[in-house]
Amino acid sequence: MSTAPIIVCFRQDLRLSDHAALSAAAKTDRPILPCFIYDDASPGPWVPGGASRWWLHHSLTSIAADLEQYGVSLVIRRGAWADTLTELAHECDAHAVYWTRGYEPWFREQEEKLRSTLQTRETKRYPGGLLFEPEAIETGSGGPYKVFTPFWKACLKVAEPGAVLPAPKSLNALTETPSSLSVCDLDLLPTKPDWSGGLAEAWTPGEAGAHDRLNAFAEDHIGQYDEQRDLPARPGTSMLSPHLHHGELSPRQVWHAAHAAAVAGQRQGGIDVFLSEIGWREFSYHLLFHWPHLPEQPFREQFSGFEWREEAHDLRAWQRGQTGIPIVDAGMRQLWHTGWMHNRVRMIVASLLVKNALIHWREGEDWFWDTLVDADLASNAAGWQWVAGSGADAAPYFRIFNPVTQSARFDPEGDYLRRWVPEIAKLGKKHIHDPGSAPADVLKAAGIKLGQTYPRPMVDLKATRQRALDTYKRLRSG
Ligand code: FAD
Repeated sequence: MSTAPIIVCFRQDLRLSDHAALSAAAKTDRPILPCFIYDDASPGPWVPGGASRWWLHHSLTSIAADLEQYGVSLVIRRGAWADTLTELAHECDAHAVYWTRGYEPWFREQEEKLRSTLQTRETKRYPGGLLFEPEAIETGSGGPYKVFTPFWKACLKVAEPGAVLPAPKSLNALTETPSSLSVCDLDLLPTKPDWSGGLAEAWTPGEAGAHDRLNAFAEDHIGQYDEQRDLPARPGTSMLSPHLHHGELSPRQVWHAAHAAAVAGQRQGGIDVFLSEIGWREFSYHLLFHWPHLPEQPFREQFSGFEWREEAHDLRAWQRGQTGIPIVDAGMRQLWHTGWMHNRVRMIVASLLVKNALIHWREGEDWFWDTLVDADLASNAAGWQWVAGSGADAAPYFRIFNPVTQSARFDPEGDYLRRWVPEIAKLGKKHIHDPGSAPADVLKAAGIKLGQTYPRPMVDLKATRQRALDTYKRLRSG
């Protein structure tokens, strides 16, 4: 056996199955040195937020335990990715460094840097985070796509994603493992205060938890996905987003599980719509790859001159789920408590912030970044710009969600509202979507004092809708 090891550097690919870099390393006769570099220097403002850090702590603990079953230890270091990895490679005289490709602009720079600092050693980058590499999908004239539907059609025309790779049967261990931090040394968990109780109730980070969730969804819900996915009170969506973001599952595993569900008799209609949502994830990465400023700047330049309001009070009410608009408060509290929010509700809360309150989408993007367990540079930026109207293939600006009608349509019985906004739970389904307009006797019977037990609506929906349209008109004519 050759003694110079291959370093396999994990990042947002915290799994052992369908891991091309790990499988390739395991096929050689060399020892494997699995490592994780916590880089809180290079990402700038996009260092993981609080909820992501919580997830990372548990996911690292899980993969470290899984690796121990193979007799190898995960080496954890902290620092700028390329420099720290170079140091480790020299320290253990590594033969090669393998890793899974990343698409964030800062990470692409680190990849380049590593290649230049490790010139004499082999460096190999493997795919695995996406189904279709961003540069492999091109329009007829050779450029990137800006519209989702033709993008996804083009994806579906290229060869099907290959078969899933099993986890390696065995891994050769190094005789002497280099020094390592412990997961706790990274200080990823919240302490003062510890707000993570709701996250722990809702999630099981790690590869095993990811597969449990995928299997349960593929067995019970995927066939009805198209009918149920907009109903936040129902378990109609997969809730796989944090597992996918941290790479505890590959999109290829999700793809094949969805196709297997069709063979097992699940409705194709549900499966196709589900896969097209995986397609939106691919599209977001396609956009980030080709427009690296997407997280910071409007995709449609015209929006650079938009007249945003700076309204700290409204922003705080929105963040805390105290807007007086129940569907928005329910979503923001679900987010705070569990680190996740239903997609339909994400669109509604985002629309209230950027259109009714005219607060910059970057404020919302930052809050989501800090509080979502699935906070993802590509999908978060694309989601916010989609709602703000400044993104690629975005909702037309004039389509301003009315949160009250959205609430009545997608949570008709008010079950989602009652779960997350208990102070209005006694209102019947006629008034629960809009307590601000309920008659005094109805409020009294439900034990609600507006402005005391539950806020009055933060904005007048009709007037602020008009204000948003006028602001947009000025932008277009200016
Ligand atoms: P499902 O409906 O089961 O979909 C399956 C998978 O497809 C998801 O896990 C996700 O990976 C992907 N997906 C679904 N919808 C989208 C979409 N619109 N865009 C991109 N990928 C999608 N998603 C994130 O993963 N991270 C984010 O930071 C994020 N921020 C968002 C911000 C806003 C303002 C909006 C409107 C959407 C955002 N989304 C984000 C997209 C979407 O809301 C979540 O992916 C979805 O709610 C996750 O729940 P799920 O796993 O049950 O999704």
